[in-house]
Amino acid sequence: MTYESFHRRSIDDAEGFWAEQAELIHWHQRPQQILDYSRPPLRKWFVGGETNLCYNAVDRHLATRADQPALVYLSTETGETRSYSFAELHREVNRAAAILAALGVGKGDRVVIYMPMIAEAIVAMLACARLGAVHSVVFGGFAAHNLAVRIDDAQPKLLITADAGMRNGKPVPYKHLVDEACRVAKHPPAHVLIVDRGLDQAMPRTPGRDLDYAALRAQHLDAEVPVTWVESNAPSYILYTSGTTGTPKGVQRDTGGYCVALAASMKYVYDARPGETMFTTSDIGWVVGHSYIVYGPLIHGMTTICYEGLPTRPDAGIWWKIVEEYKVTTMFSSPTAVRVLKKQDPEYLRQYDLSSLRYLFLAGEPLDEPTSRWISDALGVPVVDHYWQTETGWAMLTYLPGVELKPNRFGSPGFPNYGFNIRVINEATGADAAPNEKGVLVVVPPLPPGCLSTVWGNDDRFVKSYFSQFKELLYTSSDWAVRDDDGYFFILGRTDDVINVAGHRLGTREIEEAVQAHAAVAEVAVVGIADPLKGQEAVVFATLKDPNLVAEEAGRARLEKEVLAKVVELLGPVARPKHAYFVNALPKTRSGKLLRRSIQALAEGRDPGDLSTLDDPNSLEEVRRAVGSTG
Ligand code: ATP
Ligand code: MG
Repeated sequence: MTYESFHRRSIDDAEGFWAEQAELIHWHQRPQQILDYSRPPLRKWFVGGETNLCYNAVDRHLATRADQPALVYLSTETGETRSYSFAELHREVNRAAAILAALGVGKGDRVVIYMPMIAEAIVAMLACARLGAVHSVVFGGFAAHNLAVRIDDAQPKLLITADAGMRNGKPVPYKHLVDEACRVAKHPPAHVLIVDRGLDQAMPRTPGRDLDYAALRAQHLDAEVPVTWVESNAPSYILYTSGTTGTPKGVQRDTGGYCVALAASMKYVYDARPGETMFTTSDIGWVVGHSYIVYGPLIHGMTTICYEGLPTRPDAGIWWKIVEEYKVTTMFSSPTAVRVLKKQDPEYLRQYDLSSLRYLFLAGEPLDEPTSRWISDALGVPVVDHYWQTETGWAMLTYLPGVELKPNRFGSPGFPNYGFNIRVINEATGADAAPNEKGVLVVVPPLPPGCLSTVWGNDDRFVKSYFSQFKELLYTSSDWAVRDDDGYFFILGRTDDVINVAGHRLGTREIEEAVQAHAAVAEVAVVGIADPLKGQEAVVFATLKDPNLVAEEAGRARLEKEVLAKVVELLGPVARPKHAYFVNALPKTRSGKLLRRSIQALAEGRDPGDLSTLDDPNSLEEVRRAVGSTG
């Protein structure tokens, strides 16, 4: 089978293609209609089918792999390791589901999960799915305000949390943020269920509202909770986008379409087999965690690893130690994380037996060539970039190793994934861009199974945010892309990250790549700031491999000149930035993406805007100081 024929069929005969993929999962009631597209752009997959995500992830495997590890929880923060076979996971999920049911949680009810990376968090997600309840996992470590906003959006019956998480050896309190969030929320949950890890002795409790997980679990040790079958289009969860470009949107996911999409992706996108082990280094608070820590690998009968800890603690070999110990076959991480490791001694990679590993998949941001080369050389396995969004739930561009692994081209996340009819559109004319011409990456609807059904509670925002950019009804990714002569796609940044210098539209990412070409630069963000003459001018913010280089003014001035010259050399004089500032840290989201819009606002002396997903507040100060010092 070739990639081309596989992809072609998924578009030309979408219903036939997806009817076949639907066989990969268990249906309590078979779908009566594969696709209902009577209300574009809203669409329904597998209409009338009844299924359940928890059943497919857990119960279904009991007959064939009850004793195989399903979930391995590993914490380098607490030193704990726990392994659950499918049978044990089934028991735990039943206990949790019984607790939730006793608290009145049922089909369609929302449950907010605000938890660290512990096994109970995954058990809680599966328990919600078992009951047909809708979970909204909020990334642990978000501030009380973010949590409150998400609580009000979902209006949950229940919130599940822990006393604390642990980061870099220090407890990070969760519960008191929950209290604060419940205080400011307009629709606080009736109950807060707490997994008490004994990390926060001073944890406050509200009698009547707060409940102890361990105590309730002890009352339900032998519980068996029947699966609640739901119609394929019943919502399974709400998950907010990262907020890199604006206020996060509550992506609403269905059940049957998502289950089928994930099951198929495990075969074709990840080339993984049941019984193997997947290690995804993300967090359950992100879409990658939902799809490839929790649901995807379990639906596929794989062992999944839930890792609580940093990639560099106790040392930079920890991930590879995990790969050796658990014979990981399929690994999924992000370019940011790999760049962190790249700064460490490469010896760490050679200390462990990595022969089980077949692929490293990366997604989340552009994968630069030096990082890609470094990690592929070090691992000796294909490093597969793939491109997707919270909205889509699974990959839109990929090399598809389970069908035909095409030769890698650096900087390209590959080709349109099956099910995705992808085009590149000229922003001004709305026509298809020619090869090598930059345009907006769009998907011709109907979106395939697995992609968002709508924005939670707001079909209007769904249509406005995603389907209103062009005259033609097209799903906009809000990312720039080009397709080269051989069909490889390249992502050039976000459509709202464009700098308009005297009528020239420059992608921030192109300038960033040019700056990156200077050997002294570690990381870079480029933003456009208002200029009375030219409309906008580019400004560079960079971190350096050796900050001592700019310890003195002469060194700083020299480096600034060199960096600006590099951009001119590679992109021409129109792209010449106005300034290059050197800082110790760049503002990023908790998921590791550059917050260009906040940097830009500060550089223009404006309010930095929605900072709900900012990782390190110091980084903003750095930017503020840098801009202030030169004026
Ligand atoms: P928001 O939509 O709220 O601004 P966000 O877009 O950062 O936040 P996510 O859904 O987590 O939220 O991220 C998806 C985006 O990440 C993509 O639209 C793209 O810009 C970027 N991205 C993901 N994977 C890749 C990749 N392999 N190469 C380049 N960019 C990628
Ligand atoms: Mg986005």
